[in-house]
Amino acid sequence: MANIGVLIETSDNEVKKANFGVISAARGEGGNEIFGLVLSSDAAPCKEAAQEYGVQKVVGVSAEGADIGSSPDLQASALADATEHLGIDVLFGLSSAQGKDLLARVAAILNAPLVMDCVGVNLTENTVTKFHFAGKTYASIKVTGNRWVCGIRPNAIEARPAPCEAEVISHQSAVQDPGRMKIREIKKGDSEQVDLTEAEIIISGGNPMASAENFKILYDCAEVLGAAVGASRSAVDAGFAPHAIQVGQTGKTVSPKLYIACGISGAIQHFAGMKTSKTIVGINKDAEAPIFNKCDYGVVGDLFEVVPALTEVLKRG
Ligand SMILES: Cc1cc2nc3c(=O)[nH]c(=O)nc-3n(C[C@H](O)[C@H](O)[C@H](O)COP(=O)(O)OP(=O)(O)OC[C@H]3O[C@@H](n4cnc5c(N)ncnc54)[C@H](O)[C@@H]3O)c2cc1C
Repeated sequence: MANIGVLIETSDNEVKKANFGVISAARGEGGNEIFGLVLSSDAAPCKEAAQEYGVQKVVGVSAEGADIGSSPDLQASALADATEHLGIDVLFGLSSAQGKDLLARVAAILNAPLVMDCVGVNLTENTVTKFHFAGKTYASIKVTGNRWVCGIRPNAIEARPAPCEAEVISHQSAVQDPGRMKIREIKKGDSEQVDLTEAEIIISGGNPMASAENFKILYDCAEVLGAAVGASRSAVDAGFAPHAIQVGQTGKTVSPKLYIACGISGAIQHFAGMKTSKTIVGINKDAEAPIFNKCDYGVVGDLFEVVPALTEVLKRG
């Protein structure tokens, strides 16, 4: 039996949805002890969500006499200390902005191998899967060493509930803050849009959007639906949408309850990024488009007619 840690990311004190796939991966074939590490002196608010996916111990990681939220150095030192103290063999986290920064620091402190951006994990063989060469190939990487650190692409691994009763514990670390940097303020981006990887509903546009201005019809619909807007790579490459909202193998992996693909052919590289969506709706004027083999509901029609009509109907309630 191995001790597996998962760095749990929160937003406004709530466990981010993208953590659940990471916890599912960390469970492996079962039989491992799963520690959910939360950067807070009080991890109790995370208990309910974490135990639903099989976390047995929810650990509040804090630093003695210091505000752990104020310094990435301190966070990494406290996490590394908790990893050693709890005898954690593999530490997982999200390959998110925070995960990329923190997991690398923790691996450096522990002098442990680090693999980031993984889309698959096999804890029996100690292997991980990653995309290489802009998604053209998959690589299976064997990780050696007694302890290793692994970042997983948000939503790349399906979240599978495995309810248990978790214990909430705390680990107060005596580590010192080297004082090299301080987080003074966290400013949200200009976009009011819901984070794509956390969104419950996504409406995406493809190549036929034809301009950035035309994306407005998707944003109007998204506003009524409470959705985030995504795009295919063709739309991004053509400059109609920013790369930050690209969905697919070389973009974001998303897992919303509802995914509406507007003028998207359904290429495998796009599908790779949204296939775990609960319900997929395709809007395409070609009845033979591959998206119709992959969606739950299909609308054969011109997106420039269908989407505004949908927005109007939704507005009327
Ligand atoms: C290594 C690699 C990585 C890649 N990574 C990604 C990735 O991350 N994400 C991604 O999306 N792609 C990726 N691609 C590209 C992918 O193969 C496709 O080329 C791309 O997804 C196609 O985008 P599209 O469906 O928007 O455009 P198109 O292939 O041009 O399809 C447009 C579709 O819209 C329909 N249509 C046209 N006009 C209308 C209209 N007015 N109303 C309704 N329907 C209409 C057409 O019938 C067609 O089905 C990758 C490719 C490679 C080789």
